[in-house]
Parts: sequence; C-alpha cells; structure tokens
Amino acid sequence: MATYRLAAIIRNPSDELLITKQSPPPPLIGEEYKNYVDSELHDIPSVTLSPLLVDSKLDWVIKGAEACIDQIDLRGFDVSSAIDQVVLQVGFDKSISFEWVFLKYSAEPDFGPVLHIHTVFILGRLKYEVADLPERSQWMSIPNVKSLLANVKPRYIRVGPLVADGLSAELALSTKFTLPPMLQFQEYPSGVVVVPMESRTQKPFSTTNLVVIAPDTIESDIMDPHFVAQGDAIILDPGCHHKMHSKLEEIVAALPRKLLVLVTHHHYDHVEGLSVIQKCNPEATLLAHENTMKRIGSWSLGYTPLSGGEVIKVSDQKLEVIFAPGHTDGHIALLHSGTHSLIVGDHCVGQGSSVLDITSGGNMKDYFETTYKFLDLAPHALISMHGRINVWPLRMLCGYLKHRRDRESTILAAIESGAETLYDIVSKSYADVDPSLWVPASSNVRLHVDHLASQNKLPKGFSMENYQSSQDMFVFKMGTNKFKM
Ligand SMILES: [Zn+2]
Repeated sequence: MATYRLAAIIRNPSDELLITKQSPPPPLIGEEYKNYVDSELHDIPSVTLSPLLVDSKLDWVIKGAEACIDQIDLRGFDVSSAIDQVVLQVGFDKSISFEWVFLKYSAEPDFGPVLHIHTVFILGRLKYEVADLPERSQWMSIPNVKSLLANVKPRYIRVGPLVADGLSAELALSTKFTLPPMLQFQEYPSGVVVVPMESRTQKPFSTTNLVVIAPDTIESDIMDPHFVAQGDAIILDPGCHHKMHSKLEEIVAALPRKLLVLVTHHHYDHVEGLSVIQKCNPEATLLAHENTMKRIGSWSLGYTPLSGGEVIKVSDQKLEVIFAPGHTDGHIALLHSGTHSLIVGDHCVGQGSSVLDITSGGNMKDYFETTYKFLDLAPHALISMHGRINVWPLRMLCGYLKHRRDRESTILAAIESGAETLYDIVSKSYADVDPSLWVPASSNVRLHVDHLASQNKLPKGFSMENYQSSQDMFVFKMGTNKFKM
C-alpha cells in the first residue's frame, strides 16, 4: 500500500524555480520548547494525488505521462484537481495556464511502518515573468538552490527533499557510486545515501538504515593528524539480515577500498553485516566507541576508537563525532558538516520512541543530556537508523523530551498514589498499553525511577530497597527475563 503525491516544478522564463515555504508540524506547548525552532524549509509545491473513486479512467492530462505507466497509470487519478490545488497553493491566478509535462516518478523506499509516499514530478514553464508572488512562494535560481543543498549554513533557510529528488539530474549533486539494482534508497541530504535494509530489528520496524557517504573525488593519501580517521567512503550501521548480505557485498564492492565503517552502537540490527565487510574489504577500518567495540568482539581488521569531538574526513567531506549516550553507554552520532545533518543511530526512530537498553548502560539522564546536545546543534535534517529521514529535527527532539517528561510524570504519579513495586508502577503507568509490551516498558520504568531518584523527586515514604527487590518478582509475573532489542 502506498499514497501518492503530485509535485510541480514551476520555472519562469529566467529558468528560476518556484519554491514555497513548508508548514512545520504544530509547535509544542511549553516555555522550555520555545527556543528550539527549526529554520524555514522551502520545497517544491506538492499535493496529495487522489485515486478516482470509481473504477474508470480519465484522459491523459500531463504530456508524456504514458512513460511511467508501468509504475503508475495517472488516468486512474484526479490529476486535474491536484494541479488546481498546486496552482492555488503557490498563489497563482487561475488565469495563468501551463502545459504540464511529465518529468519523473519517484518511489519512496520502504522505511516502514508508515505508508510509502510515491511522487509524480511534473514540469510547467511560464511564458512570462510573474513577480508578484504571495509571501510563502519565491523564485530561486538553480545555483542558489544547489548551494543551499550542498553547503548548508546552520540556522539558515533550508531546501527540502523534493527539490533534491525532482531536480537531481540537473543539480548533479548526487553521488556517482551505484547501488545494486532493485535496492531502493533515498539521497537526502545531498551526498548522504540512506538505504533501508531488511534487518532483525524490533517491531514496528523491519529495516535498518544503512547510510553511505561516498564523494566522487578521491583525496590524497597523506594522513592529516587533525582527523581521527580518513577514507574515501564511509558506511554506517551495516546491520542487515543475513539474507541481504549478498546485496551488502555488492555495495561494498562498488565502494572505494579505503573504506571506513562506523557503527553507532553494538545492537545486532546495526552490526550483523560487519562480517561481510570484513570478508569483502580487508582494508576497511572500523570506527566505534570502546564500550561498543567490547560488545562486538568479532572484528579482526583495523579499529579506531571514538569518544566524541573527533573529526572524520571522507574524501573532501567532514563528519563530526558526537558522543551520544542514552540508548546505550557507547552510542555515537555523527554530524555531516556540509549539509549540517545529524545521523543519530537509535537515539530517535522515524516513528514512536526509542527503547533504552538498560543491560548496556542505557540511562535516562544521559538520554536527556544527549537530546539537549542535539538540540543545541540545530541540525537541518535528522537521520535515524529506523524509519524516514526527519526534516523537522528540533520539533522532533522536543517531542521526545515531552514524551519522556510526560511518561516520567505518569510514573511519579503512580508512585505517589501508592505503587511500590515494579509491577504496580508498570501496570498503573502503562495501563493504556497492551500488557505484552510491559516487559520492554519495565526497563523504561526502571530508568525513569532511577532518573527520578537522581533528582531527589521520589516521595519520602518510597522504599528504593523494596522497589529494587520487587524487580525479580516482576520478571516472574511476566514469565520472561529476556530483554530483547
Ligand atoms: Zn539499538
């Protein structure tokens, strides 16, 4: 199942592109979130493309749309009203008419668990200049678009993924390295390739995003001591399922030999493909925090420890290492300098909240601190290893803070109303959640109770000793003691 949208590339006689300011998600209520506002995002205007309700077919509205009939038959969609909506969205007078030409069809990779959004790009050229645009819309030259995509200035306006996708051939920003056919990927921000690969991960996800940065230029071999590691390409979190290993082999074979491999943390849905890289490219060097490395164990090639603050050089691009504990105590994030995008491992997921691993040093205080660290960086895009790329990072991170704070308040309220054992606290504070999820939730509760204790927020009569001794009983009651990630 999928949904569809129509994206309109509108050019004026000067060959400029029309872009419109995108609406951010609704802001969160609370003083503490007011300082964290994402910078303006401008993108190609787009609207949902609705299938016709009856099983009939209209005429072709867009010239050349027959070219994508194998992927989508546009005669089965209400294209005319989608075009009307786009024209209305950018604020054009209805009297302005275009001859719309089909440009490309772009299928979104399966990031799961939400529906894919596939996009039909159409092109419309104006015969005369239209200067009087509403405030939301503006003309932008292609060199300007290119510069905003490739050299992002922190807290400056941003250009969105539809521009990068719809104009990829013209912008020529895409990496030249070729992925195996049939493997879907998304390249946004420019130069950062994200490939959702099937993995043994936790539901509702079924893939781990493999991130590849492989610039076209190969730099000199001279090692610069300013950088903790240097290579011609980097691959992050090769955690795919063994049945995807042949595809991973093809990816590694297509990349330069001077390859860096970074794992954000040790969970097997992030490292399962390391054996493939080890086999295919003995020159590869692994980069990881030492707490991660000691849990991986099976890597016999070169290894460079990371602790945060270092800079990695991949050809002509730089990546800043950010120590990001919380999910585990060896968790690392990476800031791609050129696009100011942040690769966050499992600190965030594309949908819902991330589970902290109490058995590997997961810690709520660290989690909050790392989240604030990310907010202060004000990244322009956020890439998590499960789910879609997020283009409203500050809003997303504030949502995480709020979600954790709300959960912590619920847990504190349960304790204040008399819950003393782990089972009582979980059953009260997760009463609205299916009991089959109480086991993973219990580790979250334990982390929140530890966090409340560290802030001296627990009521005086609450016995930590009784609570701690109740943890075995919880496991017994729930019938399992396995913490699964
Ligand atoms: Zn994880």
